Amino acid sequence: MRKVIYPGTFDPVTYGHIDIVRRAVDLFDQVVVTVAINPTKQPLFTTEERVEMLKESLKDFDRVIIDSFDGLTVEHAKQVGAIGIIRGLRQISDFEFEFQMALMNRKLAGDITTIFLMPHERYTYLNSTVIRNLASLHADVSNFVPPNVHEALKKKFEKSWNKFFNAFIALVSLIIPK
Ligand code: ADP
Repeated sequence: MRKVIYPGTFDPVTYGHIDIVRRAVDLFDQVVVTVAINPTKQPLFTTEERVEMLKESLKDFDRVIIDSFDGLTVEHAKQVGAIGIIRGLRQISDFEFEFQMALMNRKLAGDITTIFLMPHERYTYLNSTVIRNLASLHADVSNFVPPNVHEALKKKFEKSWNKFFNAFIALVSLIIPK
């Protein structure tokens, strides 16, 4: 069985990521979409939330598994018996970082091949950071993320908006004498 892993932060998963999964499924027998736990990043969603969102978003794909890992990508690839690592290339700006990482991973594990896939042009400008920023400003991101992710984003930012609103009310009630 030709198995690959598709690692990423997926904070949150977008239609760009899903486009890459669809292409990978067409080429390989099994695709393990894996949430990388990066202690240096402060993600908006917890690892569990990101795994859940991926499971829901990718539930129609039979040959896709979702998991998470903490450590070296090549080690995880070996653990699950994958022959390669899928990465998405959106534009030239992705290239330098991806090229460096692919060569480093090849040095670490020569038998694991990095495979780059390009999404449909309509997703080349899409990334999770932009989605988080738009959602934090209450913009409609429903064209870029699946419905469950859209809902999760709305909830996240509703909460922080409510927190801000409650703090504001508390402050006002302290300032204005009764
Ligand atoms: P980002 O924060 O850059 O959106 P992730 O770490 O979640 O990214 O990305 C995981 C992989 O998916 C990377 O290889 C990244 O280049 C790729 N990717 C992210 N967004 C897209 C997109 N819109 N189209 C294609 N590939 C993408």
